[in-house]
This record gives sequence, C-alpha cells and structure tokens, in this order.
Amino acid sequence: MGLFEDVEAIIDMHGGSPVSAIYDAVMWNRRLEEIASGKRTNSYLHASSLPYCMRGTVLSHLGIVFLNPDKMRKILRIFDNGHAFHERLQGSLKKAGVLYDDELFVCNDDYRIGGSIDGKVEVGFGEEILELKSINSFPFSKSELPLEKHKEQASVYMFCTGIYRTRFLYESKNDQEHKEIVYRLDEDVLARVLSKSVVTWRYINACIDAIGDSPRSIDSASDKISDLLPIRTCITKNQKEASNCLHCDACFAIKG
Ligand code: SF4
Repeated sequence: MGLFEDVEAIIDMHGGSPVSAIYDAVMWNRRLEEIASGKRTNSYLHASSLPYCMRGTVLSHLGIVFLNPDKMRKILRIFDNGHAFHERLQGSLKKAGVLYDDELFVCNDDYRIGGSIDGKVEVGFGEEILELKSINSFPFSKSELPLEKHKEQASVYMFCTGIYRTRFLYESKNDQEHKEIVYRLDEDVLARVLSKSVVTWRYINACIDAIGDSPRSIDSASDKISDLLPIRTCITKNQKEASNCLHCDACFAIKG
C-alpha cells in the first residue's frame, strides 16, 4: 500500500485532522521502511530497550503486538521528536568535524545484544562514545546523571565497541540547558545488563519453543506463553510505564 492510500485511511481514522493525519502517515511509513531495511533487526536485543521492561522486550521479539492506533500515533510522535533532537546535534557536531560513525550499528554475537550509537567523538580525551539525551526538566535538575537506564545502555555500546568512555550530553526539554558528563565503564553495571540479556533470551527461547513458527497473534499464542513470559510489572494500564509502553495492550490481554 502506497503512502497516499495510507494517508486516506489514516485521515478517515483522524476524523477531520488532515495535516496531523499526513504527518502520522509519513512517520508510520518511515517506521515500516526501517523494519523492511533490517535497521530494526530482531536478531539482537537492543541496548535502548534492555534497561526497560523485560516482558515488553520479549513480546516485541515474538512479534506479538496489538496496536492501539491512538497510542501508536502518540508514541511515534515521541520517537520523531527524539530523532529531530539527535539530528540537530549530530548535524552540528559533524559539521564541526568532531563526530563520526553516527548511527553505527554495534553488536556482540555471544550475548546477541547491540544497537546504534549516536556517534563517536574525539574532543581531546581519545576516542569516546557519544550519547545524546533529551530529558524533562525534573530529572535534568533533580536526578544524578547519567540515569541508571542510560548507564546500562551505554555499557552495552562500550562492551560492543571496546571503547570504555561514554560522553553523555543531556539537554533539558523545557529550556535546552545542557549538562555534559563522562561515564567510564562500570563492571557491576555491565555485569547486570549482560545477565539481563541472558535471562531475556531464555524467556524468548522458551516462548519460541512453545509457539513455534505459528502466526504469533495474541489469540493463538496467549494460552501457550502466559506462564512462560516474565511477570507483568504494571498494575494498571494507566500508570506511567504502561501508558508509554507500545506493548501495553498485548501485555494486559495475556494473563500475567
Ligand atoms: S504494560 Fe508494563 S508490564 Fe506490560 S509490557 Fe508494558 S511496561 Fe511491561
């Protein structure tokens, strides 16, 4: 189906908001292109999802999704905002000649983990991984940076590249204040994230053994995998983690 057929279908769903509908359709097409190009491969656990909910990661790998269109649109807009933030900074840093290998996919085949780095930089301290983060003003001013989830993500990149320094550049979403922090590989954090990847693959493989290559819809898989999935950690669909989770509807449709 081409973009304009998609747009017509989406405008119908949007009920009279054509500009918003066209924007959403373009984003959705971009997402489909990423999947088709293999940029979002299922062969590895992604560094950016490893620090988050294990149940969601397993559902995502199994391809068991149940897309609520309203939620999908909102989450794709959040992703798009994130991409724009990255492109803005990466563009300027590349022009300045300090950033290279941006969006390079790095991986480790033993643990089957990987992800795309924001880039590498050389600013007088040897080669470093660059991580660009745009966060709300509350964690920006009140939390110790880098956040734990970002340390875990960076640890995967450092492990995969053998470059043991990550330079985080945090930007506040509210006023574009910056904080720059260098994080060196912490073996305890790395051990935690590697052990998470081992456990996550165990869950994924157990589910695959149970459902085989059969079409992975919620209806066909639910009974077979409900006891094999990681336990649901969200109590209600309205809490923050669930409302930001693409897999929330599938997660709650399966006994947890
Ligand atoms: S709804 Fe909560 S428990 Fe379920 S997959 Fe999403 S984050 Fe995980």
